[in-house]
Amino acid sequence: DASNNALAFSPERCPRLVVKIGSALLVDADASVRREWLAGLLDDVAERTRAGQRVVLVSSGAIALGARRLSLPKGGRASLEDAQAAAAAGQIILSHCYSELLAERGIPAAQLLLTLDDLEDRRRFLNASATLSRLLGLGAVPVINENDSVATTEIRFGDNDRLAARVAQAAGATGVILLSDIDGLYTANPSSDPSATLVPRVARLDAQIMAMADDRSGSGLGSGGMISKLQAARIATRAGVALAIVTGKRPNPLAAFAADGRGTLFEAVSGSGAKRAWLAGRLTVKGRTHVEAGAVAALAPGKTLPAAGARSTEGRFSRGDVVDIVDVEG
Ligand code: GLU
Repeated sequence: DASNNALAFSPERCPRLVVKIGSALLVDADASVRREWLAGLLDDVAERTRAGQRVVLVSSGAIALGARRLSLPKGGRASLEDAQAAAAAGQIILSHCYSELLAERGIPAAQLLLTLDDLEDRRRFLNASATLSRLLGLGAVPVINENDSVATTEIRFGDNDRLAARVAQAAGATGVILLSDIDGLYTANPSSDPSATLVPRVARLDAQIMAMADDRSGSGLGSGGMISKLQAARIATRAGVALAIVTGKRPNPLAAFAADGRGTLFEAVSGSGAKRAWLAGRLTVKGRTHVEAGAVAALAPGKTLPAAGARSTEGRFSRGDVVDIVDVEG
């Protein structure tokens, strides 16, 4: 029953919720903010806030908005330098909008611009987490984007889908809604395969599900295609966070989702604790340690690698860093 999909994200079941807003929803064809739509979404957020839910927004759109302000070609994505400049010029427009529209609804807005490293480094992750908790406790709505202006290709999320999943971990949220220009995961790309059907619920994100996606962003405005959404779902669900891909192409999209549950729900996987989930959701590692065959068995969950079991290492790492452990078969 699809309407059940929305229950996992209700204020009763989900005290802290992350909502990600894709560029294609926020910015129209001539690259200005779709203010009326955003106002409707923030009405939904205000209503959820009144019902006791704490909401964190992860908003894209800076690059698209900034490209127009700076008259850059290709939506600001012709080069990394263009994207970084566009993000800087667009972010200030974006923050202004959120600040104004949330204030009209009696809600203080707060902005965090995060880089990949801010969430991959344990100490910085905990700092961001503490800040988010404090803001949520004060009734503010944090509006988060990647700090694209300082991120370089190798060390950036590049899409706000995975950022939203990592932010959910930092915010202690139990739900993520990815508002998108598509209404969920289809069995194949619906724009090229007319027989494709919407998958309402995914209990296990396996290879068969991953194979349903391709990585084109439908609109060309953002960078997140279906693959980045599935990667986000993997990070979130393994951390015990439910994630839904939901269409934002209707007014009051959160209220509409609450009413009909249309979208794809990825069920949370219960199990590992918060620190393990944070480790599992990491996108970068500092090095590799190659181990003897015998050491693999000794490395049962929660066990320590005996120093004698390590054959060699690659990379530079120190206490607290995360490394891959590689067995003799690679
Ligand atoms: N951070 C980018 C922006 O604000 C968007 C990344 C994405 O498309 O997911 O424009």
